Amino acid sequence: MSAKLNLAIYWAGSCGGCDVSILDINERILDVAQNCDIKFWPIAMDFKLSDVEKYADNSIDVCLFNGCVRNSEQEHIAKLLRKKSKILVAFGSCAYLGGIPGMANFNKKQEILDRVYVEAQSVENSEKIFPQPHTKVAEGELEIPVFHDYVKSLKQIVDVDYFIPGCPPTTEIINTALNAIFSGKLPPKGTVIAGKKNLCEECPKEKTDEKKVKKFVRPYQVIFDEKKCLLEQGIICIGPATIGGCGARCISANIPCRGCFGPALDVSDIGAKMLSAVASVIDSNDPVEIEKIISEIPDMAGMFYRFTLPVSLLRRSK
Ligand code: SF4
Ligand code: SF4
Repeated sequence: MSAKLNLAIYWAGSCGGCDVSILDINERILDVAQNCDIKFWPIAMDFKLSDVEKYADNSIDVCLFNGCVRNSEQEHIAKLLRKKSKILVAFGSCAYLGGIPGMANFNKKQEILDRVYVEAQSVENSEKIFPQPHTKVAEGELEIPVFHDYVKSLKQIVDVDYFIPGCPPTTEIINTALNAIFSGKLPPKGTVIAGKKNLCEECPKEKTDEKKVKKFVRPYQVIFDEKKCLLEQGIICIGPATIGGCGARCISANIPCRGCFGPALDVSDIGAKMLSAVASVIDSNDPVEIEKIISEIPDMAGMFYRFTLPVSLLRRSK
């Protein structure tokens, strides 16, 4: 075949948004069509897994893998695509960090199964029947993937070459990655293709570094000053802990950052960094009052670890 790159795109524990973001790169999708031979892309083309299994090892030049890993099928395909690919990219926050599905790690596997198959208001299951990996039926045996105990990021399963953050990745970030791939000028292995500084340094809102907050609130509970830092007005914004590179889009629309790009380069745990960031804006020197103000933050763990729980210091409920 020609000098086209062999490209695979796969979705594991994913909402499909990352696949759509690839289609959403406007006219650059024509470059992808011109420069790449698609070898596997289940959402868009009818390849079978058995096709991939027959490919020679390392015959896929680049694999963009989106979604977290939660079951045995996703783990199997992650390992298969690692073996078949020269470059494996964790594409989007779920593959990179565990992402939104990673918040399930706040609950144990059985709690999730109970909620979905027994307790949900729309379910009638008094016999508490749960899906089984193997079920005998008249026609033979049905097999479904094994639901693992916890959500993992792609790197927690296989070696990963590059990380593209975002939920989903922005067109600009995808274009940066495509330019590097098509030009052969790839950054060092392990690079997160994003900004270099934290989001606050890209943010257009005015910061004062003054301690002003007596109470944290959700955005709908106050009329805030659009020109000023949201965190300094008591609205939780994950910008201090988050790597930049997204163009501060949410902030520009007056939506606080939720951290989908993952930790800034000098941050090892978003929750720990955010505790320090919120403490720095509280208008009090009294430890009891500070603790009370922090304890009233709505759903603090969910707020701080919305995209990163599986790769955080906490990782999961114990
Ligand atoms: S990163 Fe966001 S857009 Fe991509 S699969 Fe996960 S939830 Fe969907
Ligand atoms: S905390 Fe949020 S609003 Fe404030 S400067 Fe950082 S990114 Fe901007």
